[in-house]
Amino acid sequence: MSVRPTALDRSATVLVAGSSGLVGSAVVRRLRAEGFTSVVGIRSTDVDLTDERATLAHLRLLRPAVVVDAAARVGGIAANDAEPVEFLADNLRIQTNLFAAAHAADVDRLLFLGSSCIYPKHAPQPIPESALLTGPLEETNSAYAIAKIAGVIAVQSYRRQYGRRWICAMPTNVYGPGDTFDPARSHVLPALLQRFHTARAEGAGEVVVWGSGTPRREFVHVDDLAAACLHLLDHYDDPAPVNVGVGEDLSIAELARLVADAVGFTGRISWDTGRPDGTPRKLLDVSRLRATGWRPRIGLPEGIRDTLGWYVEHVAAPAGAGGSRRGG
Ligand code: GDP
Repeated sequence: MSVRPTALDRSATVLVAGSSGLVGSAVVRRLRAEGFTSVVGIRSTDVDLTDERATLAHLRLLRPAVVVDAAARVGGIAANDAEPVEFLADNLRIQTNLFAAAHAADVDRLLFLGSSCIYPKHAPQPIPESALLTGPLEETNSAYAIAKIAGVIAVQSYRRQYGRRWICAMPTNVYGPGDTFDPARSHVLPALLQRFHTARAEGAGEVVVWGSGTPRREFVHVDDLAAACLHLLDHYDDPAPVNVGVGEDLSIAELARLVADAVGFTGRISWDTGRPDGTPRKLLDVSRLRATGWRPRIGLPEGIRDTLGWYVEHVAAPAGAGGSRRGG
């Protein structure tokens, strides 16, 4: 593994694709906090990255030195299961267009954000980066995973064929302020925050959680992920992807308990086993990231409180007008 000795120039123009999303907006915040003076975000409403010409024109005009690719069609287990065609096609289009445009605009450093779902369903735990392409994928999100795997191969190909110093980060389940709380699209942590918060506001005695409660997941706060992305751009230059996680996981049942405690819900938790569990366990091996000298700072209870605060302020209906309890 090669470690890049010099940090990015803080006056370089950095383009963050997907800047209105959970990860992209945190990356923009982090870059600004770190003293970057020319940070440009693109949202899907600014430039349609599924449009090859529009993407190329935008990058040629802007000429960024650095690109962070946080643009993707994303969603939780239900959305992935319901719309595999869009998850495959849109993500392939977005990354293919963005990489081609970045190459045409001579972008020196690019960070592509993948996902821990690129690894085989029954990968060894914790999952090392070397597990990529060693076995069958989890069915509920295989279309998304294949698109992200294609993105990793594309980055490695640009490096090999054109000498581009582009890199890939593979985050575990990400959560935090700015997350999606729409039950049809959300991941488990925001989904549970919303459901338990609503149940408490309505005085409901029971909350139904999807699946069996036994799958295990690892959660990284989005501000930690953004810090890790910048750390990698400053210090890492190698074709091998880097897992970004916290090194610990917990069961969905344990997560439900933590969320219930955070919102003050004291009723019963029951399980809808008609809903899919997905991958039994997804804990990343983060030794490669740790070897670059980076560690997460935000523990899960603190991160849940932080996300709950954001949810209450930005999303939750005013007291008394809360939406109905939903199973998705
Ligand atoms: P995954 O990590 O790709 O499987 O994505 P999710 O974050 O959507 O789901 C993680 C786990 O949480 C799965 O086992 C789900 O069945 C479970 N889960 C429990 N309740 C919910 C919920 O309300 N929404 C979502 N998305 N997942 C839930």
